[in-house]
Amino acid sequence: MNHLVCPMCGSEHIFADSGLITGKYKCNECGYVGSLIYEFNDKDYELFKKQVEKSKGREKFPE
Ligand SMILES: [Zn+2]
Repeated sequence: MNHLVCPMCGSEHIFADSGLITGKYKCNECGYVGSLIYEFNDKDYELFKKQVEKSKGREKFPE
């Protein structure tokens, strides 16, 4: 199964904006709107989620 993923926050809550007329997608998690989204298979999606969580952790707890 493929995952459509927000490039900003890694959420899967991505929806086609305006019925794809504009060719853009909207993320319900962070409000991102754009034509660029990531599409991953299960394995790559797990890797990407780990990367996002890591970078989020760094922002919250800077060393
Ligand atoms: Zn997002």
